[in-house]
Amino acid sequence: MSLIETEEHRALRDAVAALGKRYGREYFTQVVADGKHTDELWAEAAKLGYLGVNLPEEYGGGGGGITELSIVLEELGAAGCPLLMLVVSPAICGTVIARFGTEEQKRQWLPGLADGSRKMAFGITEPDAGSNSHRITTTARRDPETGGWILNGRKVFVSGVDIAEATLIVGRTEDAKTGKLKPCLFIVPRDTPGFSRNPISMELAAPEKQFELVLDDVRLPADALVGDEDAGLLQLFAGLNPERVMTAAFALGMARYALERAVEYARDRQVWKVPVGAHQAIAHPLAQCHIDIELARLMMHKAAHLYDIGDDMGAGEAANMAKYAAGEAAVKTVDQAVHTLGGNGLTTEYGLASMITAARVARIAPVSREMILNFVSHQSLGLPKSY
Ligand SMILES: Cc1cc2nc3c(=O)[nH]c(=O)nc-3n(C[C@H](O)[C@H](O)[C@H](O)COP(=O)(O)OP(=O)(O)OC[C@H]3O[C@@H](n4cnc5c(N)ncnc54)[C@H](O)[C@@H]3O)c2cc1C
Repeated sequence: MSLIETEEHRALRDAVAALGKRYGREYFTQVVADGKHTDELWAEAAKLGYLGVNLPEEYGGGGGGITELSIVLEELGAAGCPLLMLVVSPAICGTVIARFGTEEQKRQWLPGLADGSRKMAFGITEPDAGSNSHRITTTARRDPETGGWILNGRKVFVSGVDIAEATLIVGRTEDAKTGKLKPCLFIVPRDTPGFSRNPISMELAAPEKQFELVLDDVRLPADALVGDEDAGLLQLFAGLNPERVMTAAFALGMARYALERAVEYARDRQVWKVPVGAHQAIAHPLAQCHIDIELARLMMHKAAHLYDIGDDMGAGEAANMAKYAAGEAAVKTVDQAVHTLGGNGLTTEYGLASMITAARVARIAPVSREMILNFVSHQSLGLPKSY
């Protein structure tokens, strides 16, 4: 892995940045204010091949990896237009189907995910399990009549279910020999009887909504199961590493956008004889934010690279650390950007204050800061587990 970006990656970055710039923060803010979705940007990014850049060429994708997809998300975010569904639809669901789906599932889903005409949400979080995903209780049992599956359970905070044709649901099946529950992944089409959703009212200025899902005797055909019933955990992790890398890209795009606004302001705003950015109390924290962002980007590139070369284990540690570092950089940078603008940091005109909650998402989801610290202290440092 070279620490210097290749020419192709630089060209992709520049092209996506130019697209993001054409839409810009005003577009994004207006979409949120109107309660709409970023359909125009999504469609144009799809047409240019950006949304499926990580998916296999034979199914309509760009044949690249998470490295390329993270560049797309980071640059759109840096232009003020983060597309959260990129984390879920092509990164998690597209990856899992491309790696473990049957030929039929690949043909059914990948071309649509790649050209953006179809989206897929991802549901793992449950109200009673929270960060402890070993406790999830959404259960799938065989339907003796049809040979298919019957799912029951509940999920929370699942993003974009209303705009996704289906949700990839993490459930559990019972091992016939041991009686132990094994994680398994199921494609649940949005309008399947028994699959209902309630929007959760969130204090977030974002076009994507979060939902509570109820699965009440949801009957699915046998081929709704993705991959092997006995390799559920491995398959799940194949999707979760890209999710963490993409959350890092989401956070870093946002952080870069906020830092740029703060630097612009600090250069112009003059209340004594010099711009406020000439005061080290304003300049140094912004410089620290820049350093934090660049360090997190390096770790994100490492994680994406390890994942793309097939090192799932190595990618696991790096993706967790990248997500941690990027989440912390985003929270700190947005906070500092708001402060740099003084009162204007809280105005609607400058639009930075609403990013405070958005930045916190990257600290909490898809795995919280504390759970990453648990992972690193236990897995990387070999310290005892506290839970
Ligand atoms: C905007 C948004 C979008 C989301 N989108 C999706 C989605 O599309 N699909 C999906 O499945 N989920 C989604 N989530 C859910 C997200 O992944 C969870 O919120 C996250 O995993 C944390 O779980 P929790 O909220 O239940 O917190 P809890 O597990 O209840 O944790 C509460 C607090 O306790 C801490 N904590 C818990 N256990 C430990 C421990 N052992 N040691 C130390 N501290 C601990 C946590 O770090 C946290 O600070 C989304 C969440 C948000 C906010």
